[in-house]
Amino acid sequence: MLDTMAAYKPGKAVAAPDGRSYKLSSNESPYDPLPSVVEAIAEGARQVNRYPDPASVKLTEAIAERFDVPAEHVALGAGSVTVAQQLFETVGEPGAEVVYAWRSFEAYPLLADLAGVTSVTVPLAGEDHDLNAMAEAITDRTRMVFVCNPNNPTGTAIRRAELEAFLARVPEDVLVVLDEAYREYVRDEDVPDGLTLYRDRPNVAVLRTFSKAYGLAGLRVGYLIAPEPVATAVRKTIIPFAVNHLAQVAAVASLRAEDELLDRVERVVKERTRVREALIAQGWTVPPTEANFVWLRLGAHTPAFAAACAEQGVAVRPFGEEGVRVSIGSPEANDAFLAVTGELVGKMNG
Ligand code: PMP
Repeated sequence: MLDTMAAYKPGKAVAAPDGRSYKLSSNESPYDPLPSVVEAIAEGARQVNRYPDPASVKLTEAIAERFDVPAEHVALGAGSVTVAQQLFETVGEPGAEVVYAWRSFEAYPLLADLAGVTSVTVPLAGEDHDLNAMAEAITDRTRMVFVCNPNNPTGTAIRRAELEAFLARVPEDVLVVLDEAYREYVRDEDVPDGLTLYRDRPNVAVLRTFSKAYGLAGLRVGYLIAPEPVATAVRKTIIPFAVNHLAQVAAVASLRAEDELLDRVERVVKERTRVREALIAQGWTVPPTEANFVWLRLGAHTPAFAAACAEQGVAVRPFGEEGVRVSIGSPEANDAFLAVTGELVGKMNG
């Protein structure tokens, strides 16, 4: 049991013999923190002899205002993975089942094990969620369904009609968590903002993070927007002071600087289009992606592909012998990656 979370491995940096190093393995923002955010952190550092606000009132209110939801519907955690853990703890009674697609975010099975909840995994259909099979997998023991939209690691996203039809099939006592860690990168207008689905349903919650588009992965802050009873239950499971003072002030400052951050997201989205088109032109098969990464299903070639990238200083994320997820980085990092794929394509595409 103690080793359960050891399988959730953070992406490692690698370096080429000439010292070049590009980290495209953790879906982080490639940009340095904004000066206004660094300033807020520096100011906040003056108070770290004190415990943080345990209720994160300012941040909770800023999120509530930003998304036009009641503050009682917001629950925070030290990264959205911790909020997900709190959700699993909340539903974690003996015999409880949680349904999710596989492959999806690698923390789900680990958090389920940790909470003593049974995972019911539903294979992807190609690279997409199989919502029909997921609806069929729900039993009277199911307490929660996780839907990762866009999906990590495939980048694919579920459209509104399909998601609404699925939600209509889920019993009201089963909580559906829409994990939208990558929401800000979505450009397909048919992919619904989960908040529009949460607003008129008692059993839909939306999980988001400051780690990706907002560039605060190192500070650990994520949040849930959920119907009041769910948010209250999740708030009760938080370790006291889990969201530290610097994380709170940086997240508030990031919401204030949202326009600048979303401009950066737009640049990443443009790079995403460029990288995907370049890969396809080279001869690779790349599913459409609405997130800040691309997915290459390489099967048995996966480890060799990741090793070849590492040799050139490009860290990517291999998943067994299934495929490789590659974050969209700076133009320079993306070019370094595309140079490697250009060399490899004859040997291992398809
Ligand atoms: N959900 C998904 C789908 C993710 O990909 C990640 C990070 N890889 C998380 C949640 C957790 O992110 P964080 O804990 O940094 O908020």
